[in-house]
Amino acid sequence: MTAVEPPDQIHLALMSFKDVGAALEKGYSTVLIPCGALEQHGPHLPLCMDTDHAEALAQKLAHNLGKTLIAPPIQLGCSAHHLAFPGTISLRMETFEAICTDCCMSLATHGFKRILLFSGHIGNFPAFKTMLPRLRQVVGRDIDIDAFTDSIRWIDRWRSAVEAAGGDPNAVGGHADVAETSLMMVIRPESVRADQFEVGHLGALSNEDLQSMWKNGIKSVTKNGILGSPIGSSAQIGARCLEAIADLLTETFRA
Ligand SMILES: [Zn+2]
Repeated sequence: MTAVEPPDQIHLALMSFKDVGAALEKGYSTVLIPCGALEQHGPHLPLCMDTDHAEALAQKLAHNLGKTLIAPPIQLGCSAHHLAFPGTISLRMETFEAICTDCCMSLATHGFKRILLFSGHIGNFPAFKTMLPRLRQVVGRDIDIDAFTDSIRWIDRWRSAVEAAGGDPNAVGGHADVAETSLMMVIRPESVRADQFEVGHLGALSNEDLQSMWKNGIKSVTKNGILGSPIGSSAQIGARCLEAIADLLTETFRA
């Protein structure tokens, strides 16, 4: 038996329909849908942070899972609580769900058997949680659809990764913090403005803080839009964080 050659391209957008058909025939029946956001990330990071992160994760995850293709990222997400900051564009939950549903239905048509959604923007996790049963029902039972929704494990992995790379785990707050800033130092280093680093909200958010954030926006708990602190960020920490979350997604989707 001759070994099956892998396709030289796994990004759907860069493949021809023939390439995709050939990959499906070779057993590339899993497809990733990386999701992001266009939202403020403090004064020092660009709005594309979460989409960039999702794309970087997709690359590693596809490699780890094997026989996996990557759909183009969904570049807008649910960011209503960031709208007080200029530039943020937010989808309503139902719009985001409609986009995810249409992507899954299209991909299912072509014969993909497994569709995996994940997001560089933690704010999309609640939307995934509520849409997942409906998605599965609409797309059909013979297609395995899954989404990563565990924000606590995500943040825990960031804390351990930051600490393991010599950083301060208390600077991890989940938004424009040492983890995300360090990630951007790896993914799009020229976009990180170190001269704009500021400390954001430090420590865990109380229940009151969280209620206020969802109701009145993130500005009610952090004036500069940062949860945690970017101070102490480095490419070493970023590489470790990227690996840590790629591993977390791999373990979850393999289980
Ligand atoms: Zn982010």
